[in-house]
Amino acid sequence: MKLRIAIQKSGRLYEDSVQLLKECGIALRNVKDRLKTEADNFPLEVFFLRDDDIPQYVEDGVADIGIVGENVLYEKNKKAAIVEKLGFGKCRLSVAIPRSQQYEGIRSLEGKRIATSYPFLVNEFLAKNNVQAEIHEISGSVEIAPGIGLADVVADLVSSGSTLLMNGLKEVEVLLQSQAVLVRNNNLDAEQQKLLDKLVFRIRSVKKANNNKYILLNAPNDKVQEIISLLPGMKSPTVLPLAEAGWSSVHSVLSEDTFWDIIEQLKAAGAQGILVVPIEKMII
Ligand code: ATP
Ligand code: MG
Repeated sequence: MKLRIAIQKSGRLYEDSVQLLKECGIALRNVKDRLKTEADNFPLEVFFLRDDDIPQYVEDGVADIGIVGENVLYEKNKKAAIVEKLGFGKCRLSVAIPRSQQYEGIRSLEGKRIATSYPFLVNEFLAKNNVQAEIHEISGSVEIAPGIGLADVVADLVSSGSTLLMNGLKEVEVLLQSQAVLVRNNNLDAEQQKLLDKLVFRIRSVKKANNNKYILLNAPNDKVQEIISLLPGMKSPTVLPLAEAGWSSVHSVLSEDTFWDIIEQLKAAGAQGILVVPIEKMII
């Protein structure tokens, strides 16, 4: 009995998907150029697929779970439920128009030809805003469509925006914020569910660890109280006496978001010799 997971065969989600499994302690056998492989140390079978096909495979139960972008998941509109957002593959689906053109809100799209690989999502967006426009579905290099006269505007994935810029386009509407998600088939049996729970537990521990840092610092004893009040810690910070009388070592865990702010405050409060180390797993 194995859990079957579908991940992208190659492309933007491939590396991070394999890396995530690896950080969960799941090593894949002979990944190169394979359509299918197994894990050595977890009952997991891995299918490598085009990302477009993943929602269908998971809906049909050919794969039990999958890793895919929300953009693809919603576009395909399949019955696969999100189990966990994974924090990589971040991008947005946006409408972009030639930079020379004026934009006065969504009404400016009325009657326009929109090139996109996301006809379902674009249609939904147009309908919601009561705009009539013509959708031209193309499967790749959408951003060149206005330049070659195939369309007036595009709806495409954007991350940094540099591709739009290079093609003389500007972003005017965001239809969707997207990241990679773990999705599941809706009819897993008890045993599959148990394996999925085990995997999700590991994924959450890895994500937590990646978002946190372990911090060690030294402080004179009379500053320790103030320093502790700045630190969250998992339960509370650890305080240990140093060999040098009157000094202590304080250990704690800080989240990435508040990290730099708190470091500043710790220094101001008298902390010295601050060490920050990555955490590999975090089980709480
Ligand atoms: P496949 O051959 O599997 O169909 P693809 O060419 O459709 O691959 P990629 O370009 O590899 O897809 O992108 C896969 C996913 O990565 C996208 O669906 C999206 O969720 C995410 N992504 C993140 N940033 C970007 C970006 N700037 N452009 C495109 N996709 C991005
Ligand atoms: Mg694709």
